[in-house]
Amino acid sequence: MEKIKMTTPLVEMDGDEMTRILWKQIKDELILPFVELKTEYYDLGLVHREETKDQVTIDAANANKKYGVAVKCATITPNAQRVKEYNLSQMWKSPNGTIRAILDGTVFRAPIMVKGISPVVKTWKAPITIARHAFGDVYRATEYRVPGPGKAELVYTGEDGTTFRETVYDFECPGVLQGQFNKDSSIRSFARSCFQYALDTRQDLWFSTKDTISKQYDHTFKDIFQEIYEAEYRARFEAAGITYFYTLIDDAVARVIRSRGGFIWACKNYDGDVMSDMVSTAFGSLAMMTSVLVSPEGNYEYEAAHGTVTRHYYKYLKGEETSTNPVATLFAWSGALRKRGELDGLDALGTYADALEAATIETIESGVMTGDLCAMWEGEVPARKVSSLEFLRAIRERLEQKLG
Ligand code: NAP
Ligand code: MG
Repeated sequence: MEKIKMTTPLVEMDGDEMTRILWKQIKDELILPFVELKTEYYDLGLVHREETKDQVTIDAANANKKYGVAVKCATITPNAQRVKEYNLSQMWKSPNGTIRAILDGTVFRAPIMVKGISPVVKTWKAPITIARHAFGDVYRATEYRVPGPGKAELVYTGEDGTTFRETVYDFECPGVLQGQFNKDSSIRSFARSCFQYALDTRQDLWFSTKDTISKQYDHTFKDIFQEIYEAEYRARFEAAGITYFYTLIDDAVARVIRSRGGFIWACKNYDGDVMSDMVSTAFGSLAMMTSVLVSPEGNYEYEAAHGTVTRHYYKYLKGEETSTNPVATLFAWSGALRKRGELDGLDALGTYADALEAATIETIESGVMTGDLCAMWEGEVPARKVSSLEFLRAIRERLEQKLG
């Protein structure tokens, strides 16, 4: 069989621990035999981040900007224990944080659904995608532990000399205080990424905040979304047969639970953090969750939603066979290759990505799966637990049949 050719390289960001092992296995078993893979390779493994003083992460993000599409392996975000373990000169920042800051995007997370593993919420028949604003609010807040009686004020001093000053609270006892912010520019990027992704995937877009209570802060989010929708997207949404819908977050929660799924739910930073964990847990597992960062300029970075699966890696190092689930990482590759194909007009790449995903889902539905899925399996055929490599080889057999 002739291998599929590529024109533009994919930005490949390698990572750490068990997912780094899976990364190579996925390439060897499922990609290189079928695709004449063109990538620009960046090693974001912690060892090489240390060697380059984290410059490699910045270079990789800039390459993502240059070429448009990247695929990223899970990476360690160092903490004190990792600093010791890897003998680091600094506690390097989260690579995802660095990449997000450079691309300025929104993260979209969606579950991969298979027959035999049903969502806890019985009405959910199609995936629910969470779009999380990845900038500001409580994550960049200034906090103060108020020690005792005193006045707390909110003060703004404009460059042009205008001032705003209002009492937050006259404390008669100790308490807590917090100042949050966001920027119109970031909210606009968030809105555009959401509208664009809804068009790309032909799904309705929901957006929720608490604008009735937060009449300036949250209301600004609501207004900016509405303004951009009217000015830039309404016509395209109508042509695509999809809708934009705004509602209060508490109303959204109730509607989401009663829904059948199949839409994108855009959330502010904190709401998205919390709701994505709820939605992914209710759909099954983080190992069956795709994640893509979409920048307002239309750059895409595909990854798995889970981490480097450290506990499995230590078993692997001891020579034990592991049954780590490679599906989310595999879908990061198929997602990135499909997008590359779309942008370069290479239909064969899209067909291949579709076949790879279908082969993966069919393999699980036939009862062959990794250990984490066995625990959730409710299918008719009995589940057979296999190692990661056996699982990938079973997918390969199906993929070969599909691609003839
Ligand atoms: P994790 O790697 O997602 O693993 C947590 C647990 O979830 C695992 O121990 C495993 O449970 C289960 N799990 C996750 N993915 C799985 C898979 N593909 N197959 C089977 N089981 C899976 O999270 P963590 O242990 O909190 O973090 C480990 C490292 O990953 C940290 O250094 C963190 O900084 C990094 N991290 C990176 C990213 C990213 O790059 N996007 C995201 C999150 C965390 P059992 O052990 O019970 O089998
Ligand atoms: Mg979280």
